[in-house]
Amino acid sequence: MEAEMGIFGAENLWGIDLGGTKIEGVVLKSFEQPDELLRIRVPTEAHLGYEHILNQFQLLFSKLQAKTGRKPDVIGLASPGTYIAKIGEMKNCNATVINGRNLKKDLEDTLEVDIVLANDANCFALAETKLGIVKSHYSEAKVVFGVILGTGVGGGLVVNGHVIQGKHGIGGEWGHNYLYPGEGKLCYCGKQGCNEQIISGPALEEFYKQKSGHYKPLKEIYHLHLQGVDKFAELTIKRLLDGFAKALSVVINIVDPDVIVLGGGVSHIDALYTDTSEVLKDMIFNHEFDTPILKAQLGDSAGVFGAALLIADTSLLPLDK
Ligand SMILES: [Zn+2]
Repeated sequence: MEAEMGIFGAENLWGIDLGGTKIEGVVLKSFEQPDELLRIRVPTEAHLGYEHILNQFQLLFSKLQAKTGRKPDVIGLASPGTYIAKIGEMKNCNATVINGRNLKKDLEDTLEVDIVLANDANCFALAETKLGIVKSHYSEAKVVFGVILGTGVGGGLVVNGHVIQGKHGIGGEWGHNYLYPGEGKLCYCGKQGCNEQIISGPALEEFYKQKSGHYKPLKEIYHLHLQGVDKFAELTIKRLLDGFAKALSVVINIVDPDVIVLGGGVSHIDALYTDTSEVLKDMIFNHEFDTPILKAQLGDSAGVFGAALLIADTSLLPLDK
């Protein structure tokens, strides 16, 4: 135990990712050398209420402290939704028990450390930029748009290595732009027809079910599409590719990113990387589209790594004022 503690120091970056099923904590060696030294997870158990979630944070933090023999001054937190600094409340969380709560202050009081927090899609974009696929293949990229396509749909924008949080904390919140108004289910964001309700995994599976009369997981729908034996599967994948391209075109016309990175369950569909550029060409204000669309490299770890990296991002500090 003594020897293990020797590897930890004041330069370590501590990050926590609040997920739907688990709360994960990581300790990275330093900003210059962000090797993972320790990772621990505990169940979120959000159905047991907000106070219980705070207790789970405390449990995780105690375990991290016991393993490292240290207590940090600040922790980076990847959270769902958005923290509104002006009124000290969370909003837009799909784990709705957190909405309206001051997660930042409550955690600072519970854990007795400062918390720097950002939306989990922002943390994903930051981690893939600094540690993942962008760093390894396009390290010169200045503008990176990170997309999470899974059960939910989200986005994060990193410019010159900094996360763009925005005036209202909704910078990069691409998942809830209108895509096809009036289509799909009414979303918790208050709109019907936002990106999440059209091109998320569950939304596409629901679309297939409505057309064909039976449920199949998206992976199987894609397989049937590739085999060319199911016209409903073809329709569903076309809806994904057209919708994804249309949703991306809005971002491209505004920030024209150097690189786009995709993560989440739906990002395993290869056609997103091979077919999107062709569709996009006709949707943007340019005659060609050659921006690389890359598959994320860090998997589930991106959120927690991004959280730890937030600590070193001084551009986030004004958000707290
Ligand atoms: Zn929505």
